[in-house]
Amino acid sequence: AKAAGRGVFHFYDDALDDEIQRSLLLKRELPRAIKAGDFSLVFQPKIKLSNGAISGVEALARWPHATLQAISPGEFIPLAESTGQIVPLSEWIFEEALQTLASWRNTPLDGVSMAVNLSALLLKRNDLVDEVRWLLDRHSLDPALLELEITETAALENLDIAICQLNKLRELGVTIAIDDFGTGYSSLALATSLPADCLKIDLSFVAGMLNNGANAAAVNSTITLAHSLGIRTVAEGVETEEQLTYLQRQGCDEAQGYFFAKPLPKDEILDWHGTHAG
Ligand code: C2E
Ligand code: CA
Ligand code: CA
Ligand code: CA
Repeated sequence: AKAAGRGVFHFYDDALDDEIQRSLLLKRELPRAIKAGDFSLVFQPKIKLSNGAISGVEALARWPHATLQAISPGEFIPLAESTGQIVPLSEWIFEEALQTLASWRNTPLDGVSMAVNLSALLLKRNDLVDEVRWLLDRHSLDPALLELEITETAALENLDIAICQLNKLRELGVTIAIDDFGTGYSSLALATSLPADCLKIDLSFVAGMLNNGANAAAVNSTITLAHSLGIRTVAEGVETEEQLTYLQRQGCDEAQGYFFAKPLPKDEILDWHGTHAG
């Protein structure tokens, strides 16, 4: 039994060790990768459920890497946040996203909005609003075409600052979406105190809503709450026609997910739109 016990601990030790090794390696790689421009963005369409038209896209970061196996944003974004590298990385992401948005002027994607995820660390910076204003100006973009996605947890970290920053961003004309809505501890309080234009229903609720009453209740009450506050709802992670039908019946405004399209590189978004228009 003693030997077996040791074996078990060994197993955990090795797994933990690998994880620490990988995270150390990635931490070291990050600054170089940011300088070298190794990152890329993919764009996932958001569909208006009333008419099936594309209303916007969400920019999602990717880190293709030659030797390390696929590094998901769920892994490198928190790492970049913990080292402060999220600041230069976000600068790159915003520049790339807005340049892409500007490149759609006078194309069939003209007027489609761009949603960018805003990390908690950036939300706290006092140069955020000036940076966003400057970027929009430099690309001569209508601020209404930029939507910033903020998670509940990011907003909660520093609620007073978040409210103040979001108000200033909205004065600019930028819109605000609360991301992963319903996953935090005080979603209701947040939805009523944050200046927001949109609630994004977390994909965990969408995944469960057809066979789990609690998830369905979360979806339905989010839509009701949003509409009573006069704001839009976007359902994330829609993968099936049944989910789409359910959301339509509940009056959800927009949807996003593999059922419509995976996140796509910018040149493929134009092609996708060409074959799915209307
Ligand atoms: P998120 O903002 O909640 O993004 C939604 C995630 O769901 C994305 O994962 C997207 O690829 C995935 N997804 C979309 N449709 C479906 C579907 O139908 N089914 C399923 N199962 N998943 C779907 P991704 O790209 O791996 O991003 C993970 C998270 O990393 C994001 O969650 C966001 O929090 C963060 N992230 C990604 N890009 C950025 C970025 O540029 N900046 C910041 N700050 N965070 C980012
Ligand atoms: Ca998001
Ligand atoms: Ca989300
Ligand atoms: Ca998420």
